[in-house]
Amino acid sequence: MESIRTYGGTIYLCKSCGQPCYEGSHGPEHFKEQWDGIFCPWFPLAGGRLEVEWDTASLDDLKASYPDTYPREPTAPAAAGR
Ligand SMILES: [Zn+2]
Repeated sequence: MESIRTYGGTIYLCKSCGQPCYEGSHGPEHFKEQWDGIFCPWFPLAGGRLEVEWDTASLDDLKASYPDTYPREPTAPAAAGR
């Protein structure tokens, strides 16, 4: 499972839930950050992909600001300051 923050390939939208996904080795998959923040019946896979003509700036912004709900240790630095 990839991180949307670092994924370098093409990002699609899932036809089922409308959230970002990518083409994994077994078909469309969702990202690690979407752990429980999306309600996709296919998760962790994605229900088909929609191609999006992303503007580079908006894609960078999406990657940087996409909510990260992946479970981590509560003491992890990423959880501090919330
Ligand atoms: Zn989906």
